[in-house]
Amino acid sequence: DDQEKDIEKGKKSTRYEDIGGLKEEVKSMKPPKGVLLYGPPGTGKTLIARAVASETGAHSIVVNGAEIMSKFYGETESRIRNIFEEAAAKAPSIIFIDEIDALCPKRDSAGSEVEKRVVATLLTLMDGVDTKEGSMNNISDKVVVIAATNRPNSLDEALRRPGRFDREIEIGIPNPNDRFSILLTITKDIPSTLTENQVRDLANKTHGYVGADLAAVCREAGLIAIRRHVKLGENDLAIGISDMEEALGVVKPSTM
Ligand code: ATP
Repeated sequence: DDQEKDIEKGKKSTRYEDIGGLKEEVKSMKPPKGVLLYGPPGTGKTLIARAVASETGAHSIVVNGAEIMSKFYGETESRIRNIFEEAAAKAPSIIFIDEIDALCPKRDSAGSEVEKRVVATLLTLMDGVDTKEGSMNNISDKVVVIAATNRPNSLDEALRRPGRFDREIEIGIPNPNDRFSILLTITKDIPSTLTENQVRDLANKTHGYVGADLAAVCREAGLIAIRRHVKLGENDLAIGISDMEEALGVVKPSTM
């Protein structure tokens, strides 16, 4: 059960060592001001943002674009302003905006007035100029915005101009080598009898599985292992290759 919780929630603070593969992507996370992570769901975008926040020791504020838009409709702008104020007050800070596409859709599309104002507010704040305050607080050197999206092309273009999200990093679907690293990373902290060769094998036959899928496979294998051990009256809960194979029959790849 603990094992399952560990895989599901990660540890209290996410470290770079918790990220499988993605070495180049993580290396390019030395953000000037804003970084946009884009790619399919479950590939590790949130994981990277969490790791950067805890490894740099920066104050971190996590915002979900869809949530802030729906829950605080009408108040969204002031929520965003508050977030940037908190970030500046507690700098160095990282603001992580997940699902930014919900917050900043293209303004020329059928967007509402509120949406348009939200986009404008975010642009202004990212420029470090809070016009409402009538002040020019250049907070760019202390506050970094990391945003994630599955749909980069639906974002308002102004957001992607220099000085805002001036770095865009694709977090893609993992190849066999990436999957090998991800599987090693996920299984390193859980009891298992898996050999490196077996993990290599699993990596080779999990085409289409993203990091989140592989985590789900390991979780499922953990449950299967528990059931198997209980049936045999054993205390040992280690995951074996047969548990992983069985789990692959249950958890399907999300990108196929
Ligand atoms: P979404 O677009 O759905 O928010 P995401 O790209 O932000 O997806 P994460 O939330 O980072 O995906 O990944 C979900 C979970 O999958 C992570 O908490 C982790 O358990 C696992 N995971 C994903 N990618 C990796 C990876 N590269 N290494 C290790 N674990 C990973």
